Amino acid sequence: MTIEKAGQILQETFGYNSFRPLQQEIISNVLAQKDSLVIMPTGGGKSLCYQIPSMLFPGLTIVISPLISLMKDQVEQLSEVGIPALFLNSTLSKEQYQVNVARIRSGDVKLLYLAPETLMMAKTRKLLEELTIDCFTIDEAHCISEWGHDFRPEYRQLAQVRKDFPNSVCLALTATATPRVQEDIRSSLEMEKSEVFVASFDRKNLILKIADKQKPLEQILDFLYTRKRESGIIYCFSRRQVDELAYDLKQQGYSVLPYHAGLAEQERSDHQDAFIRDRIQIIVATVAFGMGINKPDVRFVIHHDMPQNIESYYQQIGRAGRDGRTADCLLLYSYSDRQKIQYFIGQKEGDEKEIAEKHLEDLIGYLETQQCRRKPLMNYFGEEYTESECGMCDNCLREKGDLEDYTTEARKYLSTVVRSGQRFGAHHIADILRGSSAKKILENNHDQLTTYGIGKEWSKDQWIQLSRLLIRSGYLKKDPDHGSLILTEESESLLRGGASLLGILDRTQTASGAAGGRRGESEIEKKYDEFLFEELRKKRKELAEKLEVPPYVIFPDTTLMEMSYYYPQSEEMLPGIYGVGSAKLKKYGKDFLRVIRTYCEGKKIDDRAGVLVNKVKKTTSGKKYEQVGQAFEQGKGVLELAEEHGVKTATILSHLKSWLDDGNPLEKERIVVLSGLSERKQHEVFKVFDLVGADVLKHAYEELNKSVDYNELRILQLAYQAGHS
Ligand code: ADP
Ligand code: ZN
Repeated sequence: MTIEKAGQILQETFGYNSFRPLQQEIISNVLAQKDSLVIMPTGGGKSLCYQIPSMLFPGLTIVISPLISLMKDQVEQLSEVGIPALFLNSTLSKEQYQVNVARIRSGDVKLLYLAPETLMMAKTRKLLEELTIDCFTIDEAHCISEWGHDFRPEYRQLAQVRKDFPNSVCLALTATATPRVQEDIRSSLEMEKSEVFVASFDRKNLILKIADKQKPLEQILDFLYTRKRESGIIYCFSRRQVDELAYDLKQQGYSVLPYHAGLAEQERSDHQDAFIRDRIQIIVATVAFGMGINKPDVRFVIHHDMPQNIESYYQQIGRAGRDGRTADCLLLYSYSDRQKIQYFIGQKEGDEKEIAEKHLEDLIGYLETQQCRRKPLMNYFGEEYTESECGMCDNCLREKGDLEDYTTEARKYLSTVVRSGQRFGAHHIADILRGSSAKKILENNHDQLTTYGIGKEWSKDQWIQLSRLLIRSGYLKKDPDHGSLILTEESESLLRGGASLLGILDRTQTASGAAGGRRGESEIEKKYDEFLFEELRKKRKELAEKLEVPPYVIFPDTTLMEMSYYYPQSEEMLPGIYGVGSAKLKKYGKDFLRVIRTYCEGKKIDDRAGVLVNKVKKTTSGKKYEQVGQAFEQGKGVLELAEEHGVKTATILSHLKSWLDDGNPLEKERIVVLSGLSERKQHEVFKVFDLVGADVLKHAYEELNKSVDYNELRILQLAYQAGHS
């Protein structure tokens, strides 16, 4: 019953259509007063997991967070949707502090954000003793662990404090996935028996792309050309590089600012602010940038240089597309960057060196893979990626027809490597093939080699690209000390045997995707009215400046995009739009409607009421699962329903589960067909359900040694329960 109320809050207060994966389960668990540990990647939607329960609990929910800079932002966002929230931390003036305390005492606050050091203060503790605390939330819970990347000693004391609130349920959240840290959190907070929710770390809406770095500025300009209105972050290795690139982009007319630890504190925070408030489009930054950035509409993250390791890479690209819409992640990869990192690793010693080497190896594995990039990436986080293709990385997006046969050129290349004694690098080999009379060629008598000058048909760049392709394909490797090219065990088969080399030579292209629309884009993203969108953005900016909040606090881009697609021209239509809850409707509805109406009158455009009203009906009726259940009963398939409602199949499955739980019959066979598993494997899963039960999927997941992923398990769970009802 309460979970239905949670669904209502999701729709009416937040204006969202459906829960993201695990949100519903977590909220149910918290509402049932069960302690929960949540591990979910950035952008997964952790905040709703305590924000929605806070509205349903009679007393107060407190949220401990070390990110003081984010508290204001979050409280602002909550106030915008009509949830009474406040924070207490050291940034408040004495007066403001008193005002906040008075409001808390009066009982009209549902959510209170606290910095850990504020929580430890005697006066705060005394205040909390007077109140009913229903939920004790620990955000960024990895800070409790010395094994995490962000240990905070104050967090250690939370365990003790938590004991002072034995009647409140404890919810700990983090985006750090390492088992060691998870274990630390559980034992420090004495949560051994509580439920753990681990969301997939696969951020499906991120397009992953690696390009060979050749002329980085040109490559970045190519990339940016079709993205002039999109916010993005460009990471560089050094401060100097940041300054240079920011300068160059500015020269090209981009609105951009630099960010690094060498800037004065005020300057840094101004630049960050300008980015968050959409006053500039791009921020060029070192790794110093990003902690505590909540901006949901970052559309791209570019790595101008190689990141330190997969973990930091993942954290950085994770800042893109938090709103769930498609976003691009481009990394420019060069061998010399790799050598730079190797050099730094060489300076280290002992364990530290060993760990760094392992990290580099993992990263290279990711960069050089010819498979779907999500495989090595997810593996790194201990998750098995079982799909054969994701359709959202460069390797998967590449058409089979894009591959060309370079066997002949490869043979010329490899034999030149052999004849010159495996002692030279790619430039020199290219020079031999092109018949160059450079000094180094003549000194080594390489103009005497039989392969001298047999490759004039190609430019030097092309030969160098071929060397990279040969390395990627395992036919060559670089001597780690000298960088000279040497053969591998595979080389022979290509040189003399039957192997052939298929591949992409030029991997320097960066300008993919924008013109014909990106992969993974929805109908709305492809077809919204860009001109109206711009008008709405202007209105949003104007309001944001007036109210001194970031624009996304008023409405995220997705909202404006839906408005520019459906052209809603009456107030009744607005609740059907993403992100329009009742508070924002009241506050901003008229402003935005006016813009839409003026625009539509001028162009004689009708609203798409038919489509939207349907959507409104669906979202406001509250019992969506009944509609889904009925439609299913009348013969509609799950996939069809997912498409019709514009949601994932998992969402339809969860509706059908509620339908089933209500005591309605469900045809097992029509669910089983969705499974991608063989019948044999399906039966194995059913047997495990017999053994450990089908209610908590984690048990079956473990019992199956994690060999079947949760998506599959959810399908089979429903089929199983349908068969047993
Ligand atoms: P996290 O804390 O896990 O990094 P957030 O809680 O900040 O993620 O959520 C990321 C973005 O997704 C926010 O803009 C949030 O409003 C939005 N969001 C969260 N849950 C949903 C949902 N069920 N439907 C639509 N948007 C959501
Ligand atoms: Zn892929």
